[in-house]
Amino acid sequence: MIKLKTEREIALMAEAGAVLIECFARLERFIRPGVTTLEIATLVDETMAELGAVNAEKGYGGFPGAACVSVNEVLVHGIPSSKKVLRDGDIVSVDLVSQKHGYHADACRTYPVGIVGESHLRLIKETEACFEIALALVRPGIHLGDICHAIEEHARSCGYSVPREYTGHGIGREMHEDPYIPNYGRPGTGPLLQAGMTLAIEPMVMEGGNALRVLPDGWTAVSKDHRYSAHYENTVAVLEDGAKVLTR
Ligand code: MG
Repeated sequence: MIKLKTEREIALMAEAGAVLIECFARLERFIRPGVTTLEIATLVDETMAELGAVNAEKGYGGFPGAACVSVNEVLVHGIPSSKKVLRDGDIVSVDLVSQKHGYHADACRTYPVGIVGESHLRLIKETEACFEIALALVRPGIHLGDICHAIEEHARSCGYSVPREYTGHGIGREMHEDPYIPNYGRPGTGPLLQAGMTLAIEPMVMEGGNALRVLPDGWTAVSKDHRYSAHYENTVAVLEDGAKVLTR
C-alpha cells in the first residue's frame, strides 16, 4: 500500500533531507586519493549525530557499517573498510539514509577520486541525467512505469545497462515503502502518481552488462564483468503541481 504524506510530513522529510545535503557537502571536500571507505562512513556518521539525525543505514538489516560506500565495480552495499583506500581514478558511490522526527530521507552521490578517466566521468554524468529525465516527468497522473522506462531508455541510449535486482522505493516513516521503483519498465503501467507520494528515485547504471554477484560477505554487489557503475539518488515528493526534491 502506498502511504500518502501530508504537507507537514513532507516538511519533516525535508529536515531529514537537509542532513544529507550537509553530509554530501562535507564529503565533496573530503573525498580524495588516500582516504579509506571507513573514513567516509565515519564522517557521515559523525555529521548525522552532530545534526541530531539518526543514521538509519547503520546496522539496518544487519548491515555491518555506518554507510554504503561502493567503489568502481561495486554497484551497491559496499561495506566500509579501513583496508579499502581510494586511489586516483576511482569512482565512489556514497548512499545515505537519515531519519529525523521519525521520517526518512535517502540519497546517493557518485564522486570521482582525483583524476578520473573521461569514460567514467561520462558514466557519472549520464547516471545523473537519468535522474533528471525521470524527475522532469514526476507529477500527479503519470504512471510509475513512465519514470522507470525513462531511466532505462536513457541508460541504454548511452550504451549502458541497468540492474534488475535493485530498485528505488517509496519512503517515509519506513526506509522502504511501496511502491518499488525499478530502473526499467513499460510506459503506461504501474500505479498513477498522486500528490503526497514520496519516492526514492535512484538510477543505478552499469557501464557493461548488468549481471551481478554478491560477495561472500552477503552484501557487496559487484558487476560480473568488473566494469564500473554509478548511482545517483534523491528523495522526491509528488506535489499537486509537480515534484519537489528533498535531498538537494
Ligand atoms: Mg539509497
